[in-house]
Amino acid sequence: MTRLPIRDELRGMHPYGAPQLDVPVRLNTNENPFQPPRDFVEDLAATVLDVARTLNRYPDREALDLRADLAAYICDEAGTPGIDASMVWAANGSNEIMVQVLQAFGGPGRSALTFTPTYSMYQEYARNTFTEFVSVPRGEDFSLDAVRAAETVRAMAPDVVFLASPNNPTGTAMSLDVVTAILDAFDGMVVVDEAYAEFRHPGVPSAVSLLAGNPRLIVTRTMSKAFGFAGARVGYLIADAEVVDGLRIVRLPYHLSSLTQAVARTALAHADELKEQVRRLRDERDALVEWFEGNGFETTPSDANFVMFGKFADRHSAWQALVDDGVLVREVGPEGYLRVSIGTPSEMEAFKQALMKVGSR
Ligand code: PMP
Repeated sequence: MTRLPIRDELRGMHPYGAPQLDVPVRLNTNENPFQPPRDFVEDLAATVLDVARTLNRYPDREALDLRADLAAYICDEAGTPGIDASMVWAANGSNEIMVQVLQAFGGPGRSALTFTPTYSMYQEYARNTFTEFVSVPRGEDFSLDAVRAAETVRAMAPDVVFLASPNNPTGTAMSLDVVTAILDAFDGMVVVDEAYAEFRHPGVPSAVSLLAGNPRLIVTRTMSKAFGFAGARVGYLIADAEVVDGLRIVRLPYHLSSLTQAVARTALAHADELKEQVRRLRDERDALVEWFEGNGFETTPSDANFVMFGKFADRHSAWQALVDDGVLVREVGPEGYLRVSIGTPSEMEAFKQALMKVGSR
């Protein structure tokens, strides 16, 4: 790359991504660990066969059927009626959605702000769209205080604010008064990234419930986590129809393949079966937090399908010791901590056994 006239700010950079190591227990990218149920796999195969006959044609550029199905799903999941296809937009993962948001609402001369530690891709979306990136530390317990967050946003006046809830890597869910305080404090767009929303504890509300009357609010979701559909690459947003119209201007034509649109609809038709997997993962998560607490590890409360744990004087050597024992977790977040995704019961058992050999140091 040194010989090529690549953009200066990309020179020497490495592609983002967790290590994809071939070990028996992979708990590092917050996937749903359960294989898709058999009847779901059979329906997917039938869907692909149907679509295969039409692949000489471009897909529906507007993905209208998929957006209608996602709208129905989210009305039910968030308990918020009145969302229709005009308020939903879909793309190849919520990653692509957020890039499109910055293409439409960020860009040269504009800025995006977030509160760290949080999902590190926000910075990369900003770089790739020539948007200035600003980060402000969260409080001690990684939560956000409504008054303080609003003051920060008022002072910095960014164009876009990214708020992950539940937050990655800490698992922290955000109270909705933070979102309303931030919306009141400036004129820009607020993106609440709810990639892990389905794993939240009962009673924790979704920012989808704030959408009515708040055209500057965007809620992003993904099928990569709860739906066990990471390999299919489907993310979406729910927002005012005018936001969707803005994104329709910047999206590439035919960005979402016919196959993706069709298999996502099939997955949505199986949402009820997948909810059962989510319930098991939530229980497993709560049990793991208890286990950490009973075994001398520090954790933060998690509303996601992962838990941050520590503390390690040398977290890299702890990470390596786990890898050497066949267990891959993620070296991410505040110094001294690691993050583990919730796996199957046998994967969690293997993780705990390996971790007991390492201990917290
Ligand atoms: N937001 C957060 C907080 C995430 O952790 C992730 C995936 N790690 C994403 C968004 C992107 O997910 P996807 O592109 O698969 O929808």
